[in-house]
Amino acid sequence: MTSDTAIQYLPGVGPKRAALLESELGIKTVGDLVHFYPFRYIDRSSIVRIADVHPDLAQVQVRGTVLRTRLYAKNGAELQPENIKYNSVNRLSAIVGDGSGEMEMVFFKGIKWMHERLSPGSAFIFFGKPAVFGNRLNMVHPEVDAPDGNTTGVLTGIYNSSEKLKNAGITGRVMLKLIAAALEGILPSLQESLPEYILKEKGLVPLSFALRQIHFPIDQDALAKASYRLKFEELFLLQLSLLKQKYVRSRADNGLPMPKVGEAFNACYNALPYQLTGAQKRVIKEIRDDMKSGHQMNRLLQGDVGSGKTMVAVLSALIAIGNGYQACIMAPTEVLAQQHFANVSKYLKPTGVQVRLLTGSTGVAARREIHAGLRDGSIGILIGTHALIEDTVQFRALGLAIVDEQHRFGVDQRARLWSKGYNEMPPHVLVMTATPIPRTLAMTLYGDLDVSVIDEMPPGRKPIQTLCVGENKRHAMHNFIRDEIAKGRQAFIVYPLIFESEKMDYKNLELGYEEIIKAFPLPNYKVAIVHGQQSNQDKEFNMSAFAAGRANILVSTTVIEVGVDVPNASVMVIESAERFGLSQLHQLRGRVGRGAERSYCILMRGTKVSKESQKRLDLLCATEDGFELAEEDMKMRGPGDLEGTQQSGLPINLNIASLAKDGLILADARAYAQHILDQDPGLSAPKNVPLANELRRDKYGIRDYSQIS
Ligand code: ADP
Ligand code: MG
Repeated sequence: MTSDTAIQYLPGVGPKRAALLESELGIKTVGDLVHFYPFRYIDRSSIVRIADVHPDLAQVQVRGTVLRTRLYAKNGAELQPENIKYNSVNRLSAIVGDGSGEMEMVFFKGIKWMHERLSPGSAFIFFGKPAVFGNRLNMVHPEVDAPDGNTTGVLTGIYNSSEKLKNAGITGRVMLKLIAAALEGILPSLQESLPEYILKEKGLVPLSFALRQIHFPIDQDALAKASYRLKFEELFLLQLSLLKQKYVRSRADNGLPMPKVGEAFNACYNALPYQLTGAQKRVIKEIRDDMKSGHQMNRLLQGDVGSGKTMVAVLSALIAIGNGYQACIMAPTEVLAQQHFANVSKYLKPTGVQVRLLTGSTGVAARREIHAGLRDGSIGILIGTHALIEDTVQFRALGLAIVDEQHRFGVDQRARLWSKGYNEMPPHVLVMTATPIPRTLAMTLYGDLDVSVIDEMPPGRKPIQTLCVGENKRHAMHNFIRDEIAKGRQAFIVYPLIFESEKMDYKNLELGYEEIIKAFPLPNYKVAIVHGQQSNQDKEFNMSAFAAGRANILVSTTVIEVGVDVPNASVMVIESAERFGLSQLHQLRGRVGRGAERSYCILMRGTKVSKESQKRLDLLCATEDGFELAEEDMKMRGPGDLEGTQQSGLPINLNIASLAKDGLILADARAYAQHILDQDPGLSAPKNVPLANELRRDKYGIRDYSQIS
């Protein structure tokens, strides 16, 4: 038997169970099973007596016998188990005793199955968060395990499972048996995946030890060593693969050469109305070094909203121009493109460089003229929406493509930029994003790109005062907005997409809108509304009315999240704020605080707010640091739910390591991978052959990604 043996041939599996293992858990081979690790362990030494359970404990494990179960309807009435219709049951309550006391286990889901399982008299181990409800100690949806799964050690692995698997007889105990058989089958001939010298240098236990101990730990120490080894390996191979891509690209001679800074850059720089921040200077130097290196730049520029990315973009574009090339800046919406155009034109005045705007609404005549100007090279910088990557748009010599707010662009759209270079060479690419990404995530998502961070705000920015209030403050909130409008300011009011159905969402928004126009009636107040179901024209119309100051209030869904700059807006009200993610709230808040005035963000809290949501809101009131918020968001929700990560298609949900929790291992693994590549870029030394083999398997399908941005 080897790792590649189909799982069906493992004794005790067979075709039927094999099909289930594949459909439920993605396990196809014996090797897959061996790499399917427990998500936690029962430590028999840490069972708590019910009498000692305190609701302040984070999580506990009790062992007890089911004394009785009860079923309740939604209205609280008890239902009789005879002829029960389970879909009318709202809640299952099981009273469990262990001799020292009693405790209630409560279930709202999977009731039928759990009811049958928890038959009175049978014993289980319950694991969960204790709480008190109506004077009684309880746990809601505890994990329920058989009391004696396996008795090989003090620690028993608990595996993810499903009702279907359990119905097919694959219980926790059977799972352990299958895994034991799989280990016996493959361990004798198992190839060590990491070279011997790496195990030594990094103090890692051998793979065979790690695999055995991750499933059947003899003690906590062995488990910790096993888990460290497997996490390190996973993160190390991933980083090695990303860094190798980066290395290959940085060695290829495919970069348009831009050796000088040029006059346009200097003219613009010398006329700047302010000093660049230290961070802006550093980033511009990084970009300049890339552009003159002879290798193609592929750089991500991260900077919080308002950190001054536009200026960096302009100066980078001017480097391209100073070397005889053109540049383009691509924005995700027409409004943003217009805004960039207005700002950039201002900065370019002293340079004489021609800049034009091309969007979906550019007329035929203007378009023709732009096309001609791009082809003959008289237009230096083109700004636009995705209209500028259409095939009809041909540059004389495109040297730099800048993409703003990267996660709004599809992968194909970015790929099309590559074909617009000069002399068969791709343009340099600078991707700008205002979504702060936790460091560990950036190392992975953009592990093969160079990353620049603007981590300093221009001086003189006034902090945004953020407060979180309940429904009882709605009138006060309206009055506050009236005061601000009286001072000549404007306000955003944002509604989340709350319900499953879009119809309901817009109903919610419309009700809010009606309330607002009642509270802020014509002719004294003008309210604009923007949402995803409007035509583009209506959207643009309302948005520009607000941007130009013709409307005092903009009511919208989250479509304004990205980039719009209305410096005169001083209030951001976010309705049902608890429904938003932390990063998203932070992005929204960043829409104000851009002018000279003091700005406010008011988080309207709904009536039912979970502890965790409240924690998010409190954190937002406490800090304006986008990176700190992003780190926290990832800790609370996991990396998979962060904005912009789903589209990436990258392996952020790893098998054993966690980007949220294993940041230190990740940083170490990346540095070590870099160190190995520095010595042996091709991984061709005999001692590194196992690494080259691992990368060839391309577990993460990373290969294509480097082609994109
Ligand atoms: P971002 O695109 O990163 O959100 P912007 O480039 O729009 O930020 O800059 C936000 C504001 O800060 C703009 O009004 C810009 O003129 C101003 N700004 C940029 N850099 C500086 C600086 N070094 N000093 C003062 N103001 C700056
Ligand atoms: Mg911007």
